[in-house]
Order: sequence, then C-alpha cells, then structure tokens
Amino acid sequence: MNMEGSLVILVVVVPLLTALIFIIRYYNYKNLLGFETLHLAMHSTRSSDETKPADVIQQSTNTGVSGATAPLSVNFHLTRQCNYRCGFCFHTAITSFVLPVAEAMHGLSLLADSGMRKVNFSGGEPFLVDRGNYVGKLVQFCKEELNLPSVTIVTNGSLVTEQWFQQYGEFLDILAVSWELGSRGQLEHVRDWCKEYKVAFKLNTVVNAYNKSEDMTEKVHALAPCRWKVFQCLPVVGENIGAAARRNVKEFLVTTDEFDEFLDRHRRVKCLVPESNENMRNSYLILDEYMRFLNCTSGGKEPSRSILDVGVTPAMNRSGFDEKMFFKRGGKYKWSKVDMELDW
Ligand code: SF4
Repeated sequence: MNMEGSLVILVVVVPLLTALIFIIRYYNYKNLLGFETLHLAMHSTRSSDETKPADVIQQSTNTGVSGATAPLSVNFHLTRQCNYRCGFCFHTAITSFVLPVAEAMHGLSLLADSGMRKVNFSGGEPFLVDRGNYVGKLVQFCKEELNLPSVTIVTNGSLVTEQWFQQYGEFLDILAVSWELGSRGQLEHVRDWCKEYKVAFKLNTVVNAYNKSEDMTEKVHALAPCRWKVFQCLPVVGENIGAAARRNVKEFLVTTDEFDEFLDRHRRVKCLVPESNENMRNSYLILDEYMRFLNCTSGGKEPSRSILDVGVTPAMNRSGFDEKMFFKRGGKYKWSKVDMELDW
C-alpha cells in the first residue's frame, strides 16, 4: 500500500468504523433500557408474579408478619354464640352472624389453595348452629373435597350427639372437649362415641382461679385423651377485660407461678401440652365469623379484612401471626387420625 492509500484508511475508514461501532453499541444499550423496560411495562398489567423470576416469587409469598409462608393451621371461629356463659371466655357473643355455608366453603377452599393443612372449627359453640349440621357439612367438605390431613373441632361437648357421629364422624380427625366445664355430665358419652366412630378424643382445660389447686391426674388417665391441652386463663381486651368487654376475667386469672404449680402437679400425665399466656397470644391463626384474621398483638383482637373480599395473603399480612412461636409451642404435631396409633 502506498502513502496515499494509508492516509485514506487513517482519515476515512478508521473514523467510519469507530462511528459504526459506537452506533451499534448505542442501539444495543437503548434496546436494553428502552425495549426491555417497555416489555416489562406491557406485562405489568398481568399478575405481578408472572413478571418475576422464580426466586422473587418465592420471596413474595413469605407474607405472614413473622415470615409465615402459608396458613398451615387455621382456627375458624364460625360463631360467637354459645349456650354457656363462662366468666373467662375470650371469644364472646359480640355478634350472632354466621356465614352462609357456601361462602364458608369458598373461604376454606381459598385457604387450602394457600397451603392450609389443618383446620379447627371453634366458637362460641360450633354445635349450636343448625344442631351441628353446619359444622358437620364443613368437616365433610374439608375432608372429602379439600383432602385436608387434619380436620378438628373444639366444643363444650353439651350438644354433641351420637347421630352426629353417625353422619359426620368418619370425616373428623380430632374432637376436643373443653373440660373445665365438665360438659355437664356427658363427657364420658362423647369419649365413648369418639372411640366407637374412630375420632381422636382430646381434652382442653383452662387453668383458672377456681381449678388451679385441683389434681386431675387420675381423671385424665381414666378418660385417656390423645392430648390434654392445658391453657393459662387468658385476658383479651374487648372480650373479657376492659370497658367494652362482655366478661370480666379478673377473678379467674392465675399467675405464672400458679400455672406452673398446676403443671408440676400433673407432670405424670404424658399427653399434657401446656400453653402459657406468652405461648398462646400470637401463635394461632384465628379467623372470626366473617373470615377475618384477628390480630392479638395489642392485647385485643383487631380484625383484618375478610379473606372473602381481599384473598388470603393480604388478610394474613394483618394477622400478627408469630409462626416461630407456633412451631415452638408444638403447633405442628401428629394431627391426622390415620397417623395416630390409636387403640380404637
Ligand atoms: S363454652 Fe367456650 S365459647 Fe362457650 S362461653 Fe365457655 S369458653 Fe366461651
């Protein structure tokens, strides 16, 4: 190449090539910012999860207040009405509302879709609604349609009948009877029906000023429950304490030392599961009669919006649920009757 050719390359071709490289890079950069941003913006009208990588979606489902991933175990207080008037009751008859059964089933389906594996029906007294048929239909639906591993009820036992067991017993895993009430003479009947219709029998006792000195060891052994849950009497603002409350729990309260003494007196009972106020307060996912999660972190019960209106995740974000305490208090246990080695 002569001198003239070298000059042409230097003065014309090199700047042209440099400009070309710059233009290509510029357009690539623009595409990255402009086109991709537009692409994402167009898809943002779809569900936000569809635009996120899998690991981000995983994080976004960690929605409980303390990082709960799913409503694993839910307590649905389907009614606030009760045929008893216990002085320490912490879920009182503020309303008489009961959801239509189809709406309750819809809410339970939403919970199952979100990861619920255990549901406990409670009240008030769940057998009070439609003579037990309402809770019976929900129990059957949860076992047959939703295939939940654990379906349980807490009751005062007074309205439970053998006919109920004949119709719905096969769908129920555990029936827990509140024992400090004595269930007015039919505790043994309920225990026997549980055995006959293959439902695990559980006892719940609230330790309060009137039974704190009792020794129930022999009676518990005679009744042979699969589990005996022993609670420390719990004050809840707006329910059993405070100006607006329908009960006054003060005369029933026991100190931590008195509760511990009760536990110590019953240390021979192997199935005893203790629950102090501290363990209890925020470690339950509680749904009220409107299917609103109740947040107990402030000492009262602050309702979220209903899962029927806003879905499970936004409602659960307002629940105040302490998942760590749930596991610490033994909230996850052998809760399906097929897994229990019971002597039917
Ligand atoms: S039986 Fe239960 S729901 Fe009814 S008043 Fe007593 S503690 Fe409350």
